[in-house]
Amino acid sequence: MYIIATDCYQCNEKLNVAVISTDNGNGFCGPESFTQKEIKLAENNGVIIQMRNSWTKQKDYNANICLHCKVFVDRHFLFTEYFLEVMNGYLEFKTVDLN
Ligand SMILES: [Zn+2]
Repeated sequence: MYIIATDCYQCNEKLNVAVISTDNGNGFCGPESFTQKEIKLAENNGVIIQMRNSWTKQKDYNANICLHCKVFVDRHFLFTEYFLEVMNGYLEFKTVDLN
């Protein structure tokens, strides 16, 4: 799991987001696919995860939340703005062991 230290795209306050790199798909999964244990792990590392409704998906799912303005990071946004930036070395992050 990567804990990415970044700024909120809406309010510019500090924001920690969690993603997990996987071996399938596009190599990435966000909080919508986290297990309860993984959510706890993320929360223990300063990430806030809450259920949100997405207009693109028609159903509730877990997402990274900004503590300050309560905006949530959409899955697509999480991938393009955070995960890819980490892979490209543009953002600070730490790695947390899942086990
Ligand atoms: Zn914010």
